[in-house]
Amino acid sequence: PTVLGIETSCDETAAAIVRAGAGDARGEILSNIIYSQFGEHARYGGVVPEIAARAHADKLDRVIKAALSEAGTDWDAIDAIAATAGPGLIGGLIVGTMTGKAIALARGKPFLAVNHLEGHALTPRLTDGQPFPYLLLLVSGGHTQMVLVRGLGDYERWATTIDDALGEAFDKTAKLLDLGYPGGPAVEKMASTGDPDRFALPRPLKGEARPDFSFSGLKTALRKTATDLGALTDRDVADLCAGFQKAVTETLEDRVTRSLARYRAEITDISPTLVVAGGVAANKAIRAMLERVCAEHGFAFLAPPMELCSDNAAMIAWAGLERFRRGESDPLDIAPRPRWPLDGDSAPRIGSGR
Ligand code: ATP
Ligand code: MG
Ligand code: FE
Repeated sequence: PTVLGIETSCDETAAAIVRAGAGDARGEILSNIIYSQFGEHARYGGVVPEIAARAHADKLDRVIKAALSEAGTDWDAIDAIAATAGPGLIGGLIVGTMTGKAIALARGKPFLAVNHLEGHALTPRLTDGQPFPYLLLLVSGGHTQMVLVRGLGDYERWATTIDDALGEAFDKTAKLLDLGYPGGPAVEKMASTGDPDRFALPRPLKGEARPDFSFSGLKTALRKTATDLGALTDRDVADLCAGFQKAVTETLEDRVTRSLARYRAEITDISPTLVVAGGVAANKAIRAMLERVCAEHGFAFLAPPMELCSDNAAMIAWAGLERFRRGESDPLDIAPRPRWPLDGDSAPRIGSGR
């Protein structure tokens, strides 16, 4: 089938068309259009929900048209419409799901309400035909999770952050050091010229038996260190970034290793694979660490191309396609859900009081 995907859960307005035959392990991306609202939010130092919702409403129809025209398809060739129904900012979710439902209704096509995290989780199948099961490290602006992907719709969260997400920690560090938004790339760039060992920063939860993540203690320590220094020189900023990046990389290594060991102990899998997804997967130090740790533990390591790690609609179309081709679709009274854990139930109906 051929599926139109719509993504509006945060600050990218995206539409994509993905095609795969009934037995195809991977998908073919016919188009993948992303309008990033970066410019709308930059002056506020973060995403402003109301501005995001308005920008989605303003741009989505054109983004969908562009996805159709780049794919060279017309509506007749589209078999189903998939839209992100959560988790995310409610205004954007409403714009995306209502648009998707309206198209589905007007064109008489099935509608699929997709969990954004399921989109991230299934991306290595879209790109590489990765078979089930596998371990997923999702490191984005809103999530830091270790997920066992057993099968389609069968996810088990093994670890999560008990405070900030990793991308959020990068963004807060950038804000503290006046490096702009989004902060990850800026912090990484500064870190490359700094001394990672000049400041003693904590490695939260390192050595703990539980596999969870934590980054807020590190943020507090960084703030205190910066405040104690007073006026910061470029060298100070570079050293703080390098220290921060080293601390998160080391903590992450320790945390990820716990889940690799658990996978080894509990899952029968002759070719275990760790997949990374989310915007933080762009970080070279973190990628290099994951590659090394996987090699040390006999895991294959898979990182989808960057444009499919961060938010996009191809992953939403693919998640919809996988469900559609096994006979699923969702009713049009399904409601968007700002909170929707990957291992939770399906989205509720509008008016069901859930
Ligand atoms: P979610 O998927 O949880 O809803 P999101 O859509 O905000 O969150 P993404 O778009 O996947 O997340 O990723 C954005 C995050 O990735 C930002 O926090 C950004 O700072 C971070 N990031 C991007 N590039 C890098 C990098 N090179 N190093 C570290 N972090 C990075
Ligand atoms: Mg984003
Ligand atoms: Fe995302």
